[in-house]
Amino acid sequence: MALLGVTASATGATDEIENAFRAPFFAAQSHPASGQLHIVEMDAASLAKIKRWPWSRDHYARVVDRLNAAGVRSITFDVDFSSPSEPVADSRLAASLAKSRAVITLPTFGQVAGSSDMRTLDALPIAVLRKHAVIASVAVLPDRDGLVRRMPLGTMTDGVPRPSLAAQIAGRGGTVGHPFPIDSAIEPESIPRHSFVAIENGNFDPSRLVGKDVLIGATAIEMGDRYATSRHGVLPGVVIQAMAAETLYSGTPVEAGSAFLLLAATLLTIWILLAASRKTGLVRGAASLFLLAMLHWLGWSAARMLFDIVPAFAMILGATMIMLVQQFQADQRHRRMHDTRTGLPNRFAFDSRMGDPAIFTIAATIGGYERLETVLGDTKADQLICRITERLTMGNGGESVFRVEDRALAWIFNGEQDELKSTLSGLAALMRSPLEIGGRMVDVQMGFGIGQGRALSEAVHAASQALQKGEPWSYHVAAEEAALEREISLMGELDAAIADNQLEVLYQPKLALADDRITSVEALVRWNHPERGFLRPDLFIPMAEETDRINSLTLFVLQRTIDDNLSWRAKGLQVRSAVNISARLVVSAAFLSAAEAMLSRSTIPPENLIFEVTESAAIADPKAAAAALTRFRDMGVSISMDDYGTGQASLTYLKNLPLSELKIDRSFVQFAHRDSGDAMLVRSTVGLAHELGLSVVAEGVEDEECLEFLRTVGCDYAQGYLIGKPMPAEALFALAREARRAAA
Ligand code: C2E
Ligand code: CA
Ligand code: CA
Repeated sequence: MALLGVTASATGATDEIENAFRAPFFAAQSHPASGQLHIVEMDAASLAKIKRWPWSRDHYARVVDRLNAAGVRSITFDVDFSSPSEPVADSRLAASLAKSRAVITLPTFGQVAGSSDMRTLDALPIAVLRKHAVIASVAVLPDRDGLVRRMPLGTMTDGVPRPSLAAQIAGRGGTVGHPFPIDSAIEPESIPRHSFVAIENGNFDPSRLVGKDVLIGATAIEMGDRYATSRHGVLPGVVIQAMAAETLYSGTPVEAGSAFLLLAATLLTIWILLAASRKTGLVRGAASLFLLAMLHWLGWSAARMLFDIVPAFAMILGATMIMLVQQFQADQRHRRMHDTRTGLPNRFAFDSRMGDPAIFTIAATIGGYERLETVLGDTKADQLICRITERLTMGNGGESVFRVEDRALAWIFNGEQDELKSTLSGLAALMRSPLEIGGRMVDVQMGFGIGQGRALSEAVHAASQALQKGEPWSYHVAAEEAALEREISLMGELDAAIADNQLEVLYQPKLALADDRITSVEALVRWNHPERGFLRPDLFIPMAEETDRINSLTLFVLQRTIDDNLSWRAKGLQVRSAVNISARLVVSAAFLSAAEAMLSRSTIPPENLIFEVTESAAIADPKAAAAALTRFRDMGVSISMDDYGTGQASLTYLKNLPLSELKIDRSFVQFAHRDSGDAMLVRSTVGLAHELGLSVVAEGVEDEECLEFLRTVGCDYAQGYLIGKPMPAEALFALAREARRAAA
């Protein structure tokens, strides 16, 4: 674009606009002349007085004498002396010139022969006069449109370089053929003028002319020496010469072309195109025009450089247009990608993210949406959608939610199966509490659907099915199969994982509330999968149980737990370690004998081990379970009942089992300090358990208030993130030692 601008200005295509711009530019800084230059005008009054034309050169001689007497600095004639007149008068003028103290300049009318013919026809003053004067050229070069805007610094007349009249008066040098712009801000009427006859007759105040430059020329209309200018209309040639000289007094102006401002405009163009909104873009466009105008003005007023501003302006206008088009397109795109009612990204936006990774697509469908819409009205229905979206975003880990249908929202889920389930149950719980819309509580029925990959329609369909069946969520068949497939392939890797040491055991502390020491820990397995990172046991334990890998997995954990316990003992830490034993393993003869063998091989005191079992083991086959647990008990291992409260088994039922500990499930513990029902369950469980001689562990303690509550109801142990998350053996050792030091 910059290149286009330069070419355009170089070819003169923008000249006219440039000139049109310069007229107001100069008008805005209009100022009076310096007063250093005075015009002695051969005006109508002088013509009336001195009737015979051409005037006798006596008149000029007298004017030269008068001006000299007044003490002027220079006298310049814009009068043709190229042909001789009466010899007496010629020599009389020559004598006056000879004795003049002021510098005399006489013109040579180096006139261009024609507009295409650059030769000049010389018209030098006659020899007698020439001897006593400097010769300067009077060449007025109107532009193509006939208006005079420039003046040369010098011309080549008959092979001799000569200064122009203006350059001579102002004492400026310069190169021939380099015209300079006339400062048309100068008000021509402010140049002091004196009538020729008045000077000749001495009717003037000589003190006004001391040290001044005087230019003598014709202003009378009859003399015909007149030119059109852009700002001041038609002016006598002598006035134009005077303005040119005035211009040069304050330095030689140069036409500086368009390159500099175009460079500035290029930078401003980038600035405009980077605007984030239409409004800022327009403000930047306007500011750019202003800035360019300021640079243009500064160039002229500070450095006498007259730039071409039009190409730069054109560039800015072009950039602003492009910016507007871009913004318009961006708006269009935004409109297409967003729901008009709620501003949420829509189905197109969902589809446009085709490239993003997606393991599952989750859709959430609002039950009875049409009815809700009718009852609430459009605006409130829109609000409802927005509020639901806020909740979903809160519960889905901040994933962006798309409104894919009037009543359906959807987002991408990139996580494992177990996370998916916990996310969905969390969301289902979140959606159970009513939403407040315009002061009214609205209950929303919501079904979630899971599609494989980016299968949006399938997800929406599954969500509707969940609603129909009254289930919180449902899988689309393909998604379910894919999920299964991922798990099966995981199982294939589990054997290798055990062999490869990809399984790790973390320990979560249990705090003894009597003395605030850590006296036992729970072993929790992790799978550090090479591609999928740390996998939580919920993902692979159920599968391992179904595919008969739970035996080897549990034996691995048991061995690791024994080893770590022994190494803590060696370092002086005495704690009991709990291992989770799946329900189906409890009654497995193979596990039983393998565990017995492991214990007898090891030096660990069996009292240091706890087996955590769930009530489902006991319910399935109460007799076999009781028998198996008794075997463990006889070996010296304590038995702990895990997740108490989630199943159907009552305490009285459980008293037939050889238990020594009860772990209250975290779903009751977590809010026991806030929820009176939960508080009641915890309090009564602690009481009953103590009566049966069992100690009680509360799981999932996350708040200080909860811990306080547990102390008041006499609970024995607390386990949860507040005390410590599951951690590696070394970290557990450090934490337990710290707790012991603090308690001591
Ligand atoms: P669990 O036996 O009920 O283990 C407690 C779970 O609750 C652990 O999850 C633990 O990280 C988590 N937890 C502990 N404190 C808090 C808390 O304050 N807030 C919350 N929100 N959670 C807490 P994890 O490690 O993911 O284990 C999940 C389940 O996997 C365990 O439930 C257990 O049933 C099973 N599991 C873990 N390791 C083994 C193992 O070696 N063998 C067998 N058979 N099952 C295991
Ligand atoms: Ca457990
Ligand atoms: Ca538990």
